[in-house]
Amino acid sequence: MTKVLVVDDVEDNIVLLTFELEDEGFEVIAAHNGRECLELVQEVVPDIILLDIRMPGISGLETLEQLKADERTREIPVIMVSANTGDNSIVRALDLGAHDFVSKPIEYPVLSARMRSALRLVTARRALVKANEELERLATQDPLTDSYNRRHFFTLSEAEFSKSRRHGRPLSVLMIDVDLFKAINDTYGHASGDTALRVLTECCRLATRESDVLGRIGGEEFALACPDADLEGAFALAERIRQSCEEQKIKTEDGEVFSITLSVGVTTIADQDLRFDQLLQRADNLLYQAKAMGRNRSVAC
Ligand code: GH3
Ligand code: MG
Ligand code: MG
Repeated sequence: MTKVLVVDDVEDNIVLLTFELEDEGFEVIAAHNGRECLELVQEVVPDIILLDIRMPGISGLETLEQLKADERTREIPVIMVSANTGDNSIVRALDLGAHDFVSKPIEYPVLSARMRSALRLVTARRALVKANEELERLATQDPLTDSYNRRHFFTLSEAEFSKSRRHGRPLSVLMIDVDLFKAINDTYGHASGDTALRVLTECCRLATRESDVLGRIGGEEFALACPDADLEGAFALAERIRQSCEEQKIKTEDGEVFSITLSVGVTTIADQDLRFDQLLQRADNLLYQAKAMGRNRSVAC
């Protein structure tokens, strides 16, 4: 049920508004002055606020200003209720971020239409925020594994690379590739291959820190940029990921069980590295050494 907070210093006005609004299907809570309103919104977040402009103590305008200054209450639409005083308080209220106003004596059908309009706007704004978040996710993430896509991985890693160089801090990179993945697909089917890639990213996620950046660079190839990790630490991380991944028992739809192994190239930032991709290229070369040495291993240099 839509929750309305009615703020008015006159009890009769509250009683009347409550009666009309409850009749329209709203749930009503009330405050008798600005201070009470500001305290109440810290406990219950209403969907909409009807705020009397003229009140003793903190005025409606001051209350509005504080509601708009607080991140928690900023988005709640406020409809000002004003006695026609002829001053410029309505203009000021709208400038301060009030959604709308109604004049006393209140015409209830007009009030409820304005409330519906305010609530529609809130719904539309929420949908827009959600759609933007979804777009952002689509633009930055790989849909199969939820790791970052190649482009976004580079954006984030290049920023980490610059930061590390500026502060003289370590940064290491892991290049991870599934061994003989083509054979996994051929034997257990593409869907099982997909599951295996999700298992791999989950192993990475469990082993890494919040600040580590995981990206899907190619089909079954992942890169991990680890700020503040030296070569020794990065090699230990690579081995943890490799071993935990090998231990996972992956089930096919037919109930068969298989596991995958990984080869990993590990390197760390050096003075001669001027660009992040040099680091990545070195990790890639080390990955191919790991493959040449018989796979299922990490090679660090
Ligand atoms: P190596 O040990 O030398 O890396 O051998 P490999 O078979 O893993 O390497 P190769 O590059 O020959 O094959 C990679 C395979 O990965 C081929 C491709 O079909 C598969 N692949 C790429 N992307 C996906 C995906 O999203 N899902 C699945 N199931 N397979 C994928
Ligand atoms: Mg492979
Ligand atoms: Mg590959």
